[in-house]
Amino acid sequence: MSDTKERIQKDFYARDIEEQESFLANTWCNQCQQIDLGMIEPIEYEFMGRLFIEGKCAVCGEPSITEVIEDDEDDEQV
Ligand SMILES: [Zn+2]
Repeated sequence: MSDTKERIQKDFYARDIEEQESFLANTWCNQCQQIDLGMIEPIEYEFMGRLFIEGKCAVCGEPSITEVIEDDEDDEQV
């Protein structure tokens, strides 16, 4: 059993511009305790089979991490 705990770097800017804007706008900041403050300097990566976008809160600069939930329609439909 392999226990991969490496981040696999992805290209956030390969996404549609609309998707980018939506991810950058729909945020939660633990520091500010507010939603949708915005995020800057986004980095996308895969970690343990899940996708995340990590950036900084546009207001306070604290790290802000969003998990990307993508709809997979083509598997495990029995
Ligand atoms: Zn903040």
